[in-house]
Amino acid sequence: MTIDFNKGGGLVPAVIQNASDGKVLMLAYMNQEAYQKTQETGLVTFYSRSKNRLWTKGETSGNTLQVVQVELDCDRDTLLVLVNPTGPACHRNTETCFDKQNGEPSYHQRSFQNFTPTEKALQFIASLEQTIKDRVKNPVEGSYTNFLFDKGLNKMAQKVGEEAVEVVIDAVAGKTDTMKGEAADLIFHLLVLLEASGLSLAEVVQVLESRHKPRG
Ligand code: AMP
Ligand code: ZN
Ligand code: ZN
Ligand code: ZN
Repeated sequence: MTIDFNKGGGLVPAVIQNASDGKVLMLAYMNQEAYQKTQETGLVTFYSRSKNRLWTKGETSGNTLQVVQVELDCDRDTLLVLVNPTGPACHRNTETCFDKQNGEPSYHQRSFQNFTPTEKALQFIASLEQTIKDRVKNPVEGSYTNFLFDKGLNKMAQKVGEEAVEVVIDAVAGKTDTMKGEAADLIFHLLVLLEASGLSLAEVVQVLESRHKPRG
C-alpha cells in the first residue's frame, strides 16, 4: 500500500471506524513507522503530535483497537482503519469521540441508535467474518482462529458437529442459558468452516433468499 506521507509533512490522518457497526470512533495521525507498527502488531498505533512519539492506542487504558482492515482514500493521503475496539475509544471513556455536540447526543450518535438489536447482531456477525479473513491473512499469536486453520478442515468440521450437538442437548434439556453459549460456538465455528471452504456468508444467505416464498 503506497501512502502519500509527503503532503502532511510525514503524517497522514487515520479515521478509525468500528468494523461491526460503522461508527466513527476517533481520528489521529500516523507516520510511516506508526503505520508499520500497526501492520506488524494488528493494534492501531499512531504518532502522537503532543507527545512526539509513537502511541499505541490503549497503551495505558487497555482500550486497544484491533485492526480488521486498512483502506486508503482516493489520493492516498488519508487512512480509513476498520477496527474491533476492546473498549471505549475516547479518553473520556465513551465509545466514540463523536458522541456529543454542545452537550447533546450528536447526529452521528442518534443515527446509530436507530439500529435494532437484530441489525446490530447481524453487523457483528459480518465483522466476525472479516476478522476471520484477517486472521488468515495476518496470523496473530495465540489466536484460536489461527489454531483452527493450522489444524485444518477436518478439525473445523468436527467442531461444528460437536457444537451443533451441544446446542441440541441444551435445547432438549431446556438449559437456555448454556444453550446461548453453545449457539455462539456453533455460529463461530460455522463461519470458520465456511471461510476454510471458500464460501462466504453472503453466498449462504443467497440460498436462503432463493428459497424464500413471500406470502400473498
Ligand atoms: P490510551 O491510548 O487509551 O491508553 O490513552 C492514553 C492517552 O492518550 C490518554 O490519556 C489521552 O491523553 C490520549 N487519548 C486516548 N484516547 C484518545 C482519543 N480518542 N483522542 C485523543 N486522545 C486520546
Ligand atoms: Zn485524500
Ligand atoms: Zn475523545
Ligand atoms: Zn460448545
